[in-house]
Amino acid sequence: MASFTPTPVDSIASTVTRLDAAFGTLKSHPLSFRLEQLGRLYWGLRDNEQALYDALAADIGKPVFETFMTEFAWPLSDIVNVMENLKTWAADEPITDVPWTTKLVNRPVMRKDPMGTILIIGASNFPVQLTISPLVGAIAGGNAAVVKPSELTPRSSALIAKIVEDVLDSEFYAVVNGGVDVTTKLLELKFDKIVYTGSTYVGKIVATAAAKHLTPCILELGGLNPVFVTKSADVKTAAKRIAWGKVHNAGQICLGPDYVLIHPSLEREFVESFKNALKIYLPNGAQASPDYGKIVNDRNFNRIKKLLDNSSGTVLCGGSVDESTRFIEPTLVKVTNSSDSLLSEEIFGPVIPMMVVGKVDEMVLLAKRLGDTPLAMYIFSADKLEQEKILKSVRSGGVSINDVILHASNSYIPFGGVGESGHGKYRGRDTFDSFVHRRPILSQPLWVEGQLSIRYPPYTPKKLAAY
Ligand code: NAD
Repeated sequence: MASFTPTPVDSIASTVTRLDAAFGTLKSHPLSFRLEQLGRLYWGLRDNEQALYDALAADIGKPVFETFMTEFAWPLSDIVNVMENLKTWAADEPITDVPWTTKLVNRPVMRKDPMGTILIIGASNFPVQLTISPLVGAIAGGNAAVVKPSELTPRSSALIAKIVEDVLDSEFYAVVNGGVDVTTKLLELKFDKIVYTGSTYVGKIVATAAAKHLTPCILELGGLNPVFVTKSADVKTAAKRIAWGKVHNAGQICLGPDYVLIHPSLEREFVESFKNALKIYLPNGAQASPDYGKIVNDRNFNRIKKLLDNSSGTVLCGGSVDESTRFIEPTLVKVTNSSDSLLSEEIFGPVIPMMVVGKVDEMVLLAKRLGDTPLAMYIFSADKLEQEKILKSVRSGGVSINDVILHASNSYIPFGGVGESGHGKYRGRDTFDSFVHRRPILSQPLWVEGQLSIRYPPYTPKKLAAY
């Protein structure tokens, strides 16, 4: 197993200078180079499939099937999508929505220029996909890149370093491992773009550091994601899908359903169906199940436990915790007060509060009060008008209707936040577009000089009249 070695802080500046210089050679620009690197990355992941399962199991107790879905197949499908489309996406794009004279004379195009050196800082819950998928974009855009995986998942981060070092051109791509000191050093340096995934709190630190160099950022942050279960919802399916959203990765998902607002007529059936779903998913209980993960570190374990301890709600199922294994049981809590601790911040764990609310309008008001711009929103409703009303009234980075999480688990659909949950997107075509500078180019033929001479001074009244 690759071992985690923090990168010496005093070596970081020279690594970035080296990558900047390599970018300056233009060798990363040709599509043939980019495709070769992407192909190598694809096989680097495939050759390390078992090592990925082992690393994620050791770091976060991730079941093999979950690692397969979200840390293996996911980045692979991003690579395949980008490789299949790169030639089309990278081609000069004629700018056609211009007057016919401009089209005829200037033939303006949008070129997609590589940006430079990209910094990618990853989070702990999906350490592989949250670094590799942006790296795919950086490579596709013809850039150099530095990857800083999460220090909370040391075995996965060591493996990411090994894969990148083994298969990619080290002139252009480097992994820097370590904690806050390492990230702080990186953020002092100038990059051409930063992709940061993690908490909103650290996102503000990243954005402030980037602003000093006027560096553009993609910020993939967190939030308190609401779930609306309206009177018209298929309540059994809703409960099944929401329960899965809390079991997967032990609820440590930025897109996880954070709280449920449910119509009173569905409460009883929802609770029964939620409990049944858990019994089916984890028949011998969560603690004994090989299909259920653990909380990534003590700090997060204690944070979630405190939210639970401070809640004045009623535990409807689950509730047990074990500090020694950082285990928290999937837990459903009925809360009656919108200032409950469980509604005060992103839970990022397997606990979900449920509040009974009679009218869609009241649900909307409550959701807006609890967090105006979450990363995701989930609407369980069979009524299109109701769906539209919620969509129009409550903002969010993305939305799944009658499901959770899935809008962001498709290689072809761009993903990102809004407001407090971040800005900028990747995945789908955005995995290319977000990593290039779209540079308009207008070519002026010499023969138009006669017509254009009107622009030169002196600005005589005759010229004004002719214009
Ligand atoms: P985190 O913010 O603690 O850490 C993420 C990265 O930031 C790590 O690489 C870490 O080294 C670095 N970091 C931590 N503190 C820092 C500091 N003071 N200065 C500079 N860098 C620092 O996040 P986490 O605990 O790994 O992940 C959980 C959070 O990430 C949740 O809020 C979750 O919603 C969010 N998240 C968002 C997405 C998304 O795509 N929007 C995906 C996954 C996780």
